Amino acid sequence: MPTTALTDIGTLVTNDPALGDGPLGIRRDAAVVFDDKTVVWVGDSAAAPAADTGVDLGGRAVLPGFVETHSHLVFAGDRAEEFAARMAGRPYGAGGIRTTIEATRAATDEQLAANVARLMDESLRAGSTTVECKSGYGQTVADELRSVVIAGRFTDEVTLLAAHVPPPEYAGRADDYVAMVCAEMIPLCAPHARWIDVFCEQGAFDREQAHAVLSAGIAHGLVPRVHGNQLHQGPGVQLAVELGAASVDHVAHVSAADIDALAGSETVATLLPGADFCTRNSYPDARALLDAGVTVALGADCNPGTSYTTSLPFCIALAVRDLRMTPDEAVWAATAGGAQALRRTDIGALRPGVRADAIALDAPSHLHLAYRPGVPLISQVWRGGVLAYSK
Ligand SMILES: [Zn+2]
Repeated sequence: MPTTALTDIGTLVTNDPALGDGPLGIRRDAAVVFDDKTVVWVGDSAAAPAADTGVDLGGRAVLPGFVETHSHLVFAGDRAEEFAARMAGRPYGAGGIRTTIEATRAATDEQLAANVARLMDESLRAGSTTVECKSGYGQTVADELRSVVIAGRFTDEVTLLAAHVPPPEYAGRADDYVAMVCAEMIPLCAPHARWIDVFCEQGAFDREQAHAVLSAGIAHGLVPRVHGNQLHQGPGVQLAVELGAASVDHVAHVSAADIDALAGSETVATLLPGADFCTRNSYPDARALLDAGVTVALGADCNPGTSYTTSLPFCIALAVRDLRMTPDEAVWAATAGGAQALRRTDIGALRPGVRADAIALDAPSHLHLAYRPGVPLISQVWRGGVLAYSK
């Protein structure tokens, strides 16, 4: 089996406290060796075993590949003018999604797949080696089915966002839409997805409707995740905890009781500061969540309406500057936190036995991800042991 040794790593983030300092398990002057898919050795550069291929990193930093747990890539069209109008003062409501639903329904499978491919490639070049992908811009049985099938060509982490907003033909009849989703859409789409998701928000779906959708998904073998508490305080967080969701995402408007519920649960709070940035929504209180012991992940939430970015480095910079997370907390959230939000133990770290997903930076440490905002620092990306991108 061919092996690769990354040597002369200035700062190595392992996310394994047994392998180095602090929660990130940081080592200096380190090396990582992997075979064709898996990390097999981590240690001092001077002690690295011989490998078939050697990569001298010249003091660069190496991290686990980013784990992107929240993206909406199956869509057509763009909403640049809506963004410009919002920046000029018009507030964001849940209804803008309908613009993308219209464009997505009108697109061919090939056009939708090309859009996913383009954004997956963009994510990879920004360091994301695992990318979850949601449906949610079809909102008919046929359009959601083709959305999850297309997403499945690019990732194993496919989410059926069956209830994103009530589509135009169900205006004022959200209960009827939910009944159709539960009876028809979920049974047909579930074999092509791992996760069931719902947008629990004013203007989208209320607690009972969201509960019905998630319960139907669970009955068909899907695991729940929830869009909750993005624009207002609401029932999303409590519902996610009650149903054992892997993650509740956004969490920008929460009560003390919500934080307590999350802290006592296995549900990860996935923060999406790119969406708050692009909508001028208030940022989540990351400090309150972290200080209460909640597990926090970071996602980019790539979508054409409210966060048209695939860059987790950008989100790390926002998390540090505006959410007051430390650089170490933000890097952990975008790697190990993401892995927990996807209930994966084989990614989000660099220790023997995990998948060989690693990124090298044009910088001596991971701190530069926040210290040098907007600068494309990702110099190399290995996915499953293969060099998938190099500057
Ligand atoms: Zn979303």
